[in-house]
Amino acid sequence: MKIYNTLTDKLEEFIPHHENQITMYVCGPTVYNYVHVGNMRPVITFDMVYNYFKYLGYKITYASNFTDVNPKIIQAAEKLKMTERQVADKFIKAYLTDLKSYNCSVIEKRPRVIDHIEDIFEFITVLINKGYAYEVDGDVYFRVSKIKDYGLLSNQNLEELQVGSRIDIDPKKENPLDFALWRKTSKGESFKSPWGMGIPGWHTECVVMINKIFKEEIDIHGGGVDLKFPHHENEIAQSKALNNHNIARYWMHNGHININGEKMSKSLGNFILAKDFIKEHSANEIKLALFKTHYRLPLNFTDELFGEAKVLNEKIANSLKQANLQIAINNLSTNLVKKDEKLEEIMNNDFNTPNLISYLMELIKQLNSELRNKSAFTDTYDKINLITKILGLKYDLKTFTDSDKILYNSWLEAKEKKDYQLADKLREELMTLDIL
Ligand SMILES: [Zn+2]
Repeated sequence: MKIYNTLTDKLEEFIPHHENQITMYVCGPTVYNYVHVGNMRPVITFDMVYNYFKYLGYKITYASNFTDVNPKIIQAAEKLKMTERQVADKFIKAYLTDLKSYNCSVIEKRPRVIDHIEDIFEFITVLINKGYAYEVDGDVYFRVSKIKDYGLLSNQNLEELQVGSRIDIDPKKENPLDFALWRKTSKGESFKSPWGMGIPGWHTECVVMINKIFKEEIDIHGGGVDLKFPHHENEIAQSKALNNHNIARYWMHNGHININGEKMSKSLGNFILAKDFIKEHSANEIKLALFKTHYRLPLNFTDELFGEAKVLNEKIANSLKQANLQIAINNLSTNLVKKDEKLEEIMNNDFNTPNLISYLMELIKQLNSELRNKSAFTDTYDKINLITKILGLKYDLKTFTDSDKILYNSWLEAKEKKDYQLADKLREELMTLDIL
């Protein structure tokens, strides 16, 4: 299969380090607030990636962190009159609730910075000893000039970065692009380090957790495109210094989300929290709306887009409902088709979900026609289910009881006998029970 590697800016053949196994890390949220809908795009995108690898039969280890030690959390704690730990716990809980309401998979590895403080000390100490980092007055900075191709991920060289950066000149730093591995703090939660009281830098946290969990270069590192620079660039720089590799062989970045053509921001009044958005649109509708655009492209949220997604979702739900009824009444076997070549051809091209949705709608059309013509439909039904599973779409299909089946058969019988009065009455009952 081919994946677009943002590190090389090329569509590359995907070859994992270990046969049949994949390791993947996606930067998780800084838990100081509720997440907004833009934060849900990487979550939903990499959930789809995870589901597809599972479909292909890989054993996949997926980790996504919680940044629970951060200046933003210290600020939130002050504002909310809570401790930093209470803030982190509150918003981790809220985030996990969001994931549940968006029907996302449960990620098995959820490292938290608070559990890796000692590892961070160790990591920074090694970098200092190797000459890649230096301490100034309680802060520790990474020396970017030591990394030959710093800027590779964001396609910028050191000189361009220095000219183009609006980074404040800090007299403590040797180079304005040097970034903090450790930051001295005087207020809020801080930790006693070899360099005094402080907190770790965000870029260090992810690298340390990845090293700790995977202990080698991983296959895929993902995140939103806004994390490319400086966050991911700086993760790579540290990994090069310590391990002489890029942390991950394949870097994947999803595009950002605009709302009605504008960047989402509090000042524009178009800032939408994930937990509020799910009250207006179902998880299926949101996912269909997202997947209609390729994950790498920017995406514009409009009423029109969500109107279309709603129609698509209803079409899928109605067809599956009818098929489910026929499966129950006729005791048909399903889930026999486990592979679909066309699906793979589409997805092996860098997870082409827009084409996958087109294919899904073709299959829905085919299923409807098979149902109408009373021809065999279970292969089509199975293929549809393979796709909905990869896209993380959920349809709660009814489980039929014996009395449901008897009622349905009585309705068919009444229709056949042309007893329309009875048929109408039974039809109403079936509709009340959500069978028809
Ligand atoms: Zn990260």
